[in-house]
This record gives sequence, structure tokens and C-alpha cells, in this order.
Amino acid sequence: MIEMLTVNTLHKMKTNHVKKTATKAGWHAALYMLLLLLTTGCTNGQNKNEMKYEISKTPEEWKAELTSEEYHILREKGTERAFSGDLWDNKKEGTYTCAACGQALFSSETKYTSGTGWPSFFKPLEKSSVAIEEDRSLGMVREEVLCSRCGGHLGHVFPDGPEPTGLRYCLNSAALDFEPED
Ligand SMILES: [Zn+2]
Repeated sequence: MIEMLTVNTLHKMKTNHVKKTATKAGWHAALYMLLLLLTTGCTNGQNKNEMKYEISKTPEEWKAELTSEEYHILREKGTERAFSGDLWDNKKEGTYTCAACGQALFSSETKYTSGTGWPSFFKPLEKSSVAIEEDRSLGMVREEVLCSRCGGHLGHVFPDGPEPTGLRYCLNSAALDFEPED
């Protein structure tokens, strides 16, 4: 009888232990899923852009406002052919604005002849006029230049520009509008 009880108790203890372990494993799995959901939620590009930029529009809204070339460059991070744009050789005095949202971005005072066939500047109007993001496309690491107000892609910035900054903001004409000085 005593022996039977002991065996019974032992068996009960074992079952309880297994149950506890199973519950623990279940919790771990649930926590893991939650973490996974949270991390994938945070890295979603669309959400990030919506939070980051003051002006946020759907692809359909942008398509209705921009030409197909502007849309391709500003919203799909395209690049126009060198020497094909209308601003690379523009030497007039004035302000270059974002073709998507109109924010003032660069001044003719910081534009220079880079010989690349794209409008080139050594400095934005204000540091806050543009946003810089790392671009790892095409097997290169480049610094992407975006409009800080709408997130429109403008071009890239390279460390081979003239003094005083040593930077070359290499932009697409189609991403810019030009407002001549009065
Ligand atoms: Zn913009």
C-alpha cells in the first residue's frame, strides 16, 4: 500500500512537472511571436515614412500630381540620364525647390559646374532642408538625399565636392523646380 502511494505520488509529480514545462514553453512561444510582430512592424518602410515626413501621400495621389518622370525619380528613386535634365547647366540666380512639395532646398549660390551632367551643389539651403539615408542598392554604399518635408528622392551626396564643404550633392533636374530671383 505504501509502495503504491509512493508510486502514485511520484507519477502525479511527474505529470505536474511536464504540465508546468509545457505552459512555460507556450509562454516563450507567445512572447517570441509578439516580439517578431513588433520588430517586423517597426521595420515596415511604409509606416516609417508615414511617421517621418510631414507630407505623406499614397502612390495614386503622387501619380496624379507629378509627371511620370518626376514620379519615377522622386517616388521610385530613379535617376535621369546625365546631361538630359533642364537644370544641370542652369546658371541663373535663384532657388531650387522640391518638384513634389515646393520646399526650398538649394540656392544658386552653392551650385557649381561638376561636369557630371546633373545639377550639383556643395551645400543645401539649410541643413534641415534635406534628409540623408544610407542607400545600399546597386552593390554600392551611397548617401541618398531626400526632401525632408515629403521624403522625395532627390539624388545622392558624395565626398568629392569643392570647398568649403567638400561635398557634392548630385541631384536630378526632374526632382527640382527653379524659382529665379526677382
Ligand atoms: Zn518635397
